[in-house]
Amino acid sequence: MDEKSFETLAVHAGAETVEKHFGAVSVPIYNASLYSFSDAESGGKIHNYETEGYFYSRLGNPTTDALEKALCELEQGEDALCFASGMSAITTSILGLIKAGAHIVAPESHYATTGSFLGFLAENFGVETTFVDATKAENYKNAARANTKIFYIETPANPTLQITDIAEAARFAREKNIISIADNTFATPFNQNPLALGVDLVVHSATKYLGGHSDLSAGAIIGKREIVDKIRHSTMKLFGGCLSPNTAWLVLRGIKTLALRMEKHNSNAEKIAVFLAGHSKIKAVFHPSLPEHTNHEIAKKQMRGFGGMIAFDVGTIEAGKTFLNNLELITIATSLGGVETIAQHSASMTNANTPKDIREKAGITDGLIRLSVGIENADDLIADLRQSLEKI
Ligand SMILES: *Cc1c(COP(=O)(O)O)cnc(C)c1O
Repeated sequence: MDEKSFETLAVHAGAETVEKHFGAVSVPIYNASLYSFSDAESGGKIHNYETEGYFYSRLGNPTTDALEKALCELEQGEDALCFASGMSAITTSILGLIKAGAHIVAPESHYATTGSFLGFLAENFGVETTFVDATKAENYKNAARANTKIFYIETPANPTLQITDIAEAARFAREKNIISIADNTFATPFNQNPLALGVDLVVHSATKYLGGHSDLSAGAIIGKREIVDKIRHSTMKLFGGCLSPNTAWLVLRGIKTLALRMEKHNSNAEKIAVFLAGHSKIKAVFHPSLPEHTNHEIAKKQMRGFGGMIAFDVGTIEAGKTFLNNLELITIATSLGGVETIAQHSASMTNANTPKDIREKAGITDGLIRLSVGIENADDLIADLRQSLEKI
């Protein structure tokens, strides 16, 4: 981080573009799909990226640009690109960086659709992924082959809150000339900056904390200019999953309060983790703030706060469903990162189609509940959790 604190950056990030917009304090929404040129020659130069300018919104828009600049500041990256969703950011990036026959190493515990995409690559394009226990960074190194192109990191991981030592995994990647990618959706740049720890590229589902209000879909990548540029001029251009300027504006607005929201997400989650850890109906609680968390020490080393996501085990599929069905305040839904507290039961919802042995190997037990702790009053949330736990 440069000399400014995160709170200050979050409010002012991307503001260097204000002069371009008649001094408007809120970046205007440029609802234009195309941009005219003063003459053929200048049009040609802009098209060939010889001079700055815009020509077509799939390949650049001033509102989306302001968001990309903001994300660079918050994640300490050289360049960024926005996408229509987190999955668009992930798939466009991975396909932009590999060729047929490549190999990827990824964590056993991961966002389920990322896993489906890696499975799709193996089935249809001969790109194999080795899934490793990412709580030990050396497993990345041990799984690397001559054709390994990407170490894919997700920490804290969905839905188990497993932690990977980012600096270690990134170091192993550098030693073998492998590109390291980290999904920083759960932590957000408020809590963790993977680029500063040596990773090459960060991916985000901005649908979650960056947007923060459960009202949009967006994704982003931030990282080394060379890597972002490679993706921009290949798969980004070809697949066209660009972010609409209207949504980019909403994400920019979300980011202004990111620090405030994350402080509350972090502190609420810590209180709730302690409550759950002391409750007789609960078999296990996973939050990186807890001293008993397997990788608490690594989390302390690489995170400034432990985030708003908690997982806990109520024992059985039946208990998981009963628990959800008795919640009064907390919303049953599969997303996360909004201001409201959301609960989901992985075995019957997001991972209902994952074979039980694979699910359990990844730590997704029958009774695992994932809680996205919102910014409500922590005591109100604890009261709801307590009354629902009494019913199982
Ligand atoms: C939600 C999520 C994604 C996918 O993002 P979308 O915006 O839903 O496409 C990827 N990674 C993680 C960790 C997520 O939580």
